[in-house]
Amino acid sequence: MESSPLEPLMLPKWPPQSAEIESAALECLKTGDWGRYDSNAKRELMDQLCNAFAAEHVRLCCSGTAAIELCLRAAGVGRGDEVIISAFDYPGNLRSVELLGARPVLVNASKTNFGPDLESVSLVAHDRATNSAVRAVIASHLYGHASEMEHLRQICDDRNWTLIEDVCQCPGMVYPNQAGDPVIASAYGHIATLSFGGSKPLTAGNGGAILTSDPRLAARLASLVDRPSDAFPLSPLQAAVLIPQINRLIETNVHRQRVALRIDVELRRRGTPIQCLIESASEIEPTYYKLAMLASSRSDRDEIVRRAHQQGMPIGESFRSMSKVSERRCRKPVPLDQADDYSDRLCLLDHRALLIEEDLVPRLVDRIVAVVATSVGD
Ligand SMILES: *Cc1c(COP(=O)(O)O)cnc(C)c1O
Repeated sequence: MESSPLEPLMLPKWPPQSAEIESAALECLKTGDWGRYDSNAKRELMDQLCNAFAAEHVRLCCSGTAAIELCLRAAGVGRGDEVIISAFDYPGNLRSVELLGARPVLVNASKTNFGPDLESVSLVAHDRATNSAVRAVIASHLYGHASEMEHLRQICDDRNWTLIEDVCQCPGMVYPNQAGDPVIASAYGHIATLSFGGSKPLTAGNGGAILTSDPRLAARLASLVDRPSDAFPLSPLQAAVLIPQINRLIETNVHRQRVALRIDVELRRRGTPIQCLIESASEIEPTYYKLAMLASSRSDRDEIVRRAHQQGMPIGESFRSMSKVSERRCRKPVPLDQADDYSDRLCLLDHRALLIEEDLVPRLVDRIVAVVATSVGD
């Protein structure tokens, strides 16, 4: 069995490098676009995003985290309000709710995807005695899985809550709309967020965007952001390097998906005691950011991550469950066992690993198998 460390050659360069990205950056420098408030690069990026996401309004901003905060504020969330959020989510989302003086209502994670558990959200929604302060729901799509947006949207529409769809990890994911036609993720949220952070499928080191087709939310965003210059800006240079990445997004997402599926097949073929969690719904075209793998126990997971780190393997931990956040800071009306289980047992194969050449997958899997074999069961 192979036990040598992963050769650095096997992982592609990150951030992605291409002639298109380089010439877009150079062009931005040469034309002076880099030094303008109203740059061609930002206008072009906004047009591209409006078209790609079929959104009426797009705002570029400085991060996915700021995007979530601005969505909450546009939804009118403030002191004394409550926001429903999964206990298994990007921790900054909970912080943003708290920083606005609002209270997070933690719900369980879904057993079939990593988003909010529908049953928990329904329970909170139907409890008239306690739900009067809820103003919004945050639903993130995590690790290539689609959250159950159609039902969440229904619950939110029935109660006049704002559904914030966190698409930070999966730009370009396709899921079916109410009519069963394929649409790009962001379509169900009243408002949706993208991140262009340093590990995300579209990267500018930092950055984000907010998408909405609701004129009221768009107007509120404008009044929060334009003072009159943009208070949370993305720079023209960042916009310039994103444009060529969006042009290749579909192609890159298809590649990531192929690699993820191949890793899953290879791991199962070898009977390794670690399970890839692949989006299995045939009507969904996922965007894999990192690939989630489930170990048999928390101690196995910890050991796998420790050994992987020693060997320079691109495997890390996932988000920590927020179930232990104190009752003073949040409301916890339902059991959060699934969020804890993901938090205990998930390892994540890195974003770079999903960009390797497909024919290198067996070699990558050899190394995963070796790490798991030496970590488990003793
Ligand atoms: C990365 C991420 C964010 C935050 O994006 P930044 O640009 O890093 O601030 C928000 N939500 C999810 C689900 C993320 O993965």
